[in-house]
Amino acid sequence: MSKVIVIGGGAAGMMAAIAAAEDGHQVTLLEKNEKLGKKIYITGKGRCNLTNNCEVEDLLEATCVNQKFLYSAFYGFTSQDTIEFFENSGMKTKTERGNRVFPVSDHSSDVILALNRRLKECGVRICLHTEAAGILTKESSGEKSGVCVCGVRKKDGMRLEADAVIVATGGLSYASTGSTGDGYRFAKELGLRVTECSPSLVPIEAAEEWVPRLQGLSLRNVEVTILDGKKELYREFGEMLFTHYGVTGPLILTASSVIQKKLAGHPLAMRINLKPALSEEQLDARILREFEAAKNKQFKNVIGTLYPAKLIPVIIELCGIPEEKPVHDISKEERKHLVEITKQFPLTLTRLRGYNEAVVTRGGVSVKEIDPGTMESKKISGLYFAGEVLDLDAVTGGFNLQIAWATGHAAGRGIR
Ligand SMILES: Cc1cc2nc3c(=O)[nH]c(=O)nc-3n(C[C@H](O)[C@H](O)[C@H](O)COP(=O)(O)OP(=O)(O)OC[C@H]3O[C@@H](n4cnc5c(N)ncnc54)[C@H](O)[C@@H]3O)c2cc1C
Repeated sequence: MSKVIVIGGGAAGMMAAIAAAEDGHQVTLLEKNEKLGKKIYITGKGRCNLTNNCEVEDLLEATCVNQKFLYSAFYGFTSQDTIEFFENSGMKTKTERGNRVFPVSDHSSDVILALNRRLKECGVRICLHTEAAGILTKESSGEKSGVCVCGVRKKDGMRLEADAVIVATGGLSYASTGSTGDGYRFAKELGLRVTECSPSLVPIEAAEEWVPRLQGLSLRNVEVTILDGKKELYREFGEMLFTHYGVTGPLILTASSVIQKKLAGHPLAMRINLKPALSEEQLDARILREFEAAKNKQFKNVIGTLYPAKLIPVIIELCGIPEEKPVHDISKEERKHLVEITKQFPLTLTRLRGYNEAVVTRGGVSVKEIDPGTMESKKISGLYFAGEVLDLDAVTGGFNLQIAWATGHAAGRGIR
């Protein structure tokens, strides 16, 4: 039996603590907040999309960086294992569109309750309001006999001894939940490599002066394309939302993780196909039908059937047709331009928003220095990492929490 300290009571840390305790180790979980799972509480808009009910290959596919590293963690703890874990902890789950799994109650608090129940059942000692300030190794405590972990220094200066330490401190996004990048600092202080971090799954700012006027406009069933010159970087169908500074919503968050490197260099063009189900010819025929049914009406009063109300003034501005022009006077050329604007509504993306709006952090403790089966550092024995603190991230759909559960489970089980 080893003495284990887990730093961080988020998804990965709680799962790691449970797995280690169930394996017979004596586990202490340190959490700097007043309660566990603050970030879980805000996930999935308060409903917690706790995993994606799919095959391991699909989990790997949804992972944006270091896919191969996750192979054994995902096979060791699949999405079905996550579902079973929560069902066995007294929380019923349901699977929705896109294989997204939620608690039946639609309350993320039930996920936290289930984890708390399991932690209690397996005897994990929980220390709230307890911030780890650093990790102690044999070398740092003066013994030069090889580098292995021997404890944790708390913020109040107290030292806690351990045979193994699992760092599950999360990333840098939504710092108010406690994820302030402490684990990156611990790793760097111990000479471990931390790759460059950036916000991911994050809203994007746009340059056009009319963007603030569209704030709150939600577009469903549209197709978004993002271009770097002529090169297509991203094309996806789904839902998006305008904000006062730019765009967000599922399509945009996923796009942010694909285009972030390019966007750091220069602005990128985005095109929204507002009518993806219609070809240009079909759309033109539809517009013509609307015009013929209201021949003497003004343009601005006819296009209300084609676009959401908030979008109409911008469409009128962009297509250049005078708003009061009777529709029977609109030329074929003008109609063609209207079709173009509808199929390729233009936006210029300028930059990603910051960590405080990012769902995850890209980058982190380099997985090259971590054993993928046990999450143990290859350089410091007894030191383990799990969850978002690692250089791992995925698209939306329950995949990021699945990374936290699977790597947490692997770390807990990896303790010798
Ligand atoms: C708004 C939002 C919605 C999301 N929705 C979803 C979703 O629906 N589905 C999904 O799969 N993913 C979602 N995610 C992503 C997912 O929540 C994270 O990827 C996941 O929670 C990471 O878990 P973690 O345990 O690694 O880190 P965290 O959840 O960040 O937990 C780290 C914990 O460590 C503690 N800590 C940090 N430093 C110290 C220290 N020095 N001492 C002691 N304790 C410390 C923190 O207080 C925190 O409790 C969402 C994220 C956000 C921000």
